[in-house]
Amino acid sequence: MNEKRYNPFSEELKRQFGCRVHRISIDGGFTCPNRDGSVGTAGCIFCSDRGSGSFGIARGMSIAGQLEHGKEVMTRKYKSKKFIAYFQPYSNTYAPVERLRELYDEALSVPEVVGLIVGTRPDCLPPETLDLLKEYDKKTYFWLELGLQSPHDRTLERIGRGHDFGAFRAAVESVKSRGIRLCVHVILGLPGESREEMLQTPAILNDLGVDGVKIHLLHVNRDTRLAGLYEKGEICLPEKAEYVELVCDFLERLKPEIFIQRLTGDGGKDLIAPRWSAAKFEVLNTIDDELERRGSRQGSLLQR
Ligand code: SF4
Repeated sequence: MNEKRYNPFSEELKRQFGCRVHRISIDGGFTCPNRDGSVGTAGCIFCSDRGSGSFGIARGMSIAGQLEHGKEVMTRKYKSKKFIAYFQPYSNTYAPVERLRELYDEALSVPEVVGLIVGTRPDCLPPETLDLLKEYDKKTYFWLELGLQSPHDRTLERIGRGHDFGAFRAAVESVKSRGIRLCVHVILGLPGESREEMLQTPAILNDLGVDGVKIHLLHVNRDTRLAGLYEKGEICLPEKAEYVELVCDFLERLKPEIFIQRLTGDGGKDLIAPRWSAAKFEVLNTIDDELERRGSRQGSLLQR
């Protein structure tokens, strides 16, 4: 019985594999159209030139080497027995199909790797790539992750995303028409976005039929454009209580069957602010307590 008041992805993994399964982040050596000049060079406002979510990756090794290293760490820490290879930083479908196949196959050839997660952007999914991803969806436990961050074009422009919501919607439709599992990333607290605008996002995700969501707090990390704005006092970040309330409001509006893959993050060693977010488990416990206090859960506002 799931004790959480939301639908955690860890439970889905236990159901699928009969044990805890850990994700190992790996770097496939990709870049991103929002950095290499195809779409832009500055990147998203919150991303450094090391790519988003790059903390803790054993760079400079082969795919298999990174996975073996990650397995050793996870086994020592958690006694894990099964793993999912997570192609995380930059845009992990931004290469010709033959190259993608080599990298994904190398990951799957590592013993005890039972699945693949591939993170990318909506503009890196031409039809031949989607067909390739469908092949992996058939032969392994496969998830595609797409960054949305915000469904509001004004915000997307402000954060330098390099695509609009229309492009994201079209990509989601192509992914879902092939029956590929899809997880979407959103960020709460983006500059200039109101609370009301943020709380419109769950209804949009419900309508799109996504299978999973990663909710991120806006982090100010070193070597990002956001860090420059923060130092000039132009960025306002939520307090912990405000963020917890926002996440609970968000969850209450989200369909209960959507898997929650993340509710906050710790920002890693590059974190400048907000410092309270570094205590990730404290934030997660406070979210649990707030849902309990409200007597509500994921989707409860949809059932009234
Ligand atoms: S799409 Fe991802 S990798 Fe590219 S600039 Fe934005 S956050 Fe960074």
